[in-house]
Amino acid sequence: MSLTDSCPSCCRRGIAPATTRTRGNRHIDGYRCPGCGHQWATARDLTAYSDLHARRAQRPNRKAA
Ligand SMILES: [Zn+2]
Repeated sequence: MSLTDSCPSCCRRGIAPATTRTRGNRHIDGYRCPGCGHQWATARDLTAYSDLHARRAQRPNRKAA
């Protein structure tokens, strides 16, 4: 998963992440603006995306039976 972002310095849009890493439930994209050279990182909480899957996988129905 990788999402483009906008440069916070010069507002250039559609910049693809230069580096991507995942830690626990955090997905961190590192960006570098090809226009002004500004670098930044954006962290996204993966639980927001995988909530449905996580609940199905990690919460067995105790009231079954
Ligand atoms: Zn820029």
